[in-house]
Amino acid sequence: MVTAATHSPAFPPVAETADDVLLGLDPEQREVATTLRGPVCVLAGAGTGKTRAITHRIAYGVRAGILPPAGVLAVTFTNRAAGEMRGRLRALGAAGVQARTFHSAALRQLQYFWPRAVGGELPRLVERKIQLVAEAAARCGLRLDRNELRDVTGEIEWAKVTQTVPVDYAAAALKAHREPPRDAAEISQVYGLYEQLKRDRMVIDFEDVLLLTVGILQDRQDIAEQIRTQYQHFVVDEYQDVSPLQQRLLDLWLGDRDSLCVVGDASQTIYSFTGATPDHLLDFRNRYPQATLVKLVRDYRSTPQVVHLANGVLAQARGRAAEHRLELVSQRDGGPDPAYAEYPDEPAEAEGVARRIRDLIDAGVPAGEIAVLFRINAQSEVYEQALADAGVPYQLRGAERFFERQEVRKALVSLRGAAHSRGNDPLLDAVVDLASQVRAVLSAHGWSPQPPAGSGAVRDQWESLAALVRLAEDFSRAKPAAGLGDLVVELDERAAAQHAPTVQGVTLASLHAAKGLEWDAVFLVGLTDGMLPITYAKTDDQVEEERRLLYVGVTRARIHLTLSWALSRAPGGRSSRRPSRFLNGLRPGSAATAPRTGGSAAGGPPGGRSRTRRGPVRCRVCGKTLTDAGEMKLMRCEDCPSDMDEGLYDRLREWRAEQARQLGQPAFCVFTDKTLMAIAEAAPGDPGELAMISGVGRRKLDRFGTDVLAICAGQEPGGSDGDDA
Ligand code: ATP
Ligand code: MG
Repeated sequence: MVTAATHSPAFPPVAETADDVLLGLDPEQREVATTLRGPVCVLAGAGTGKTRAITHRIAYGVRAGILPPAGVLAVTFTNRAAGEMRGRLRALGAAGVQARTFHSAALRQLQYFWPRAVGGELPRLVERKIQLVAEAAARCGLRLDRNELRDVTGEIEWAKVTQTVPVDYAAAALKAHREPPRDAAEISQVYGLYEQLKRDRMVIDFEDVLLLTVGILQDRQDIAEQIRTQYQHFVVDEYQDVSPLQQRLLDLWLGDRDSLCVVGDASQTIYSFTGATPDHLLDFRNRYPQATLVKLVRDYRSTPQVVHLANGVLAQARGRAAEHRLELVSQRDGGPDPAYAEYPDEPAEAEGVARRIRDLIDAGVPAGEIAVLFRINAQSEVYEQALADAGVPYQLRGAERFFERQEVRKALVSLRGAAHSRGNDPLLDAVVDLASQVRAVLSAHGWSPQPPAGSGAVRDQWESLAALVRLAEDFSRAKPAAGLGDLVVELDERAAAQHAPTVQGVTLASLHAAKGLEWDAVFLVGLTDGMLPITYAKTDDQVEEERRLLYVGVTRARIHLTLSWALSRAPGGRSSRRPSRFLNGLRPGSAATAPRTGGSAAGGPPGGRSRTRRGPVRCRVCGKTLTDAGEMKLMRCEDCPSDMDEGLYDRLREWRAEQARQLGQPAFCVFTDKTLMAIAEAAPGDPGELAMISGVGRRKLDRFGTDVLAICAGQEPGGSDGDDA
């Protein structure tokens, strides 16, 4: 069992031998890691260690001398994921393996081979694509507003990744059941003109990078051979989201070889709207009948409570991906139940979330281990405001990469300079330890022991510098003899590996950007019908993709999960919104929704129609219907007046902290805050009364009952020593 959060230390010890790399893998993961020949396909749910298995596979293969590091290409979908993989590989002693996105791998090859294949320099990447689309539209006599422009651009991108040329767009869109934002003939015309404009201006776009690489590999046998000689082994993470164009590129890289390992979870397909499809993952065995197929179901990431909800979300899913769902089984100890919170308006929701985040931080959860996830980026602003008001540091995911930020680059230049001038700089030479030297250098760049007030650019810059200081502190702890020069080498390596130190702030990210990542505490916000599923998801397939987004969101949480929504947008507005239909039958007091269609999944959802409807739980003070799991435990609204004996509550907390310490477990494993409050409010006089309180089960009653009753009676607890746990 995993008892504590599995934070990897910043400088973990490197495994001594290849076999050591396999320690810490379960038997199925080990099969993935040791099957180094032929095609391998891993089909598994969220948090089951897919990424871990493939990273260890590469490291094991390299360390055992079976895979040449330079001959392996690991592909994933975001720069962040690629950076993370490089970091993990480095930590496992397998630096030198290329871990890239499809895009960056293609761009690198294109830059290298362009002069030979085409001549001259590679055209530059277009900076303002939407503006170019607007120009193309204007030339077609179309006036499009910002949203229409964004949608038309999306259609052009879809056409390109599905390798559809302008004249074929209308037919292809019809066949793919797309709902073009404008007349298909118009889009096709704008698309054609946009391509023309790019050629005239000698620029290429993001999709062209893949298209041109594919073109060169198809046309130039010599270049294709050279690339194939370089890379012999391919690993693809998040394979459920591969687009036809990326698949085509992968096929060309492979040629007639089959050293390919793919891992994915069809239930996490969240990029179909861009042309991605889980078919390649699900049909892998048809294509490679000899492939080794491994399924993982043990979930190492999340508590049973979170996993139960994740399974519940998927139980109601429909469609091809859902037919392949695997029931996850948590490997962790229990934690708090997911909490549900309803708010009157969005600012109140953001404020409530910020308050809960403060509480978590006060309870010892690091800010960097907390995330707020939303459906669309525009939702972030109100959370940025609320967190800034609450004095909680945060960072937006999808922002510039750490080592590419201007303040970090400048700081590195200064650190390098300082390392060179060691011995000649009286100010710096007066300071002995490495961390203090770094603090001294970075002070000139705006670092200070305390963060500047408020949010905004100044604060962001300080956060970056503070992250560098923390990195230096960790580094000198791990390597006490290291000097400034060693740190600079380490930073350069990290910059090359794009493995940023964690900025210690709460993460704000869209659900799409959160794929593959994990945090101790996750807040899924804005969960109203209309936001999730989003209003423009109309077809059954589109709605299913939205449901998968919720599944991705839920499965990002290790321990704490809060789901919230607001009944109106602005304070005083009409409460016209409803909680997401995906939560029906899952959140307390709600009935399951009947499936929209006949559905192709066998049987009904386990949490479906047959589920008995629980009556609403009402606040015992004001009578309001309660939806928040914690409030339901308390049997009153959080804000309603409480008749709790504060002194008793404090004594119970002290006792709990001591128990948790003795058991080596987090405090909530003894009793959650809510249960403890309920005990302090009820002040039970006998075991029967104590057992009535939600959260006090048979086991807890046996183990802690005597102590708790003694404290409630104003006596010293009877020295329970936490027995055998
Ligand atoms: P996702 O579908 O979200 O991408 P995943 O299947 O790739 O998830 P990982 O990110 O590899 O899962 O692993 C999830 C968490 O579980 C990580 O913190 C990882 O370190 C941990 N983990 C995975 N396998 C094991 C194991 N055998 N023992 C202990 N921890 C593990
Ligand atoms: Mg993963």
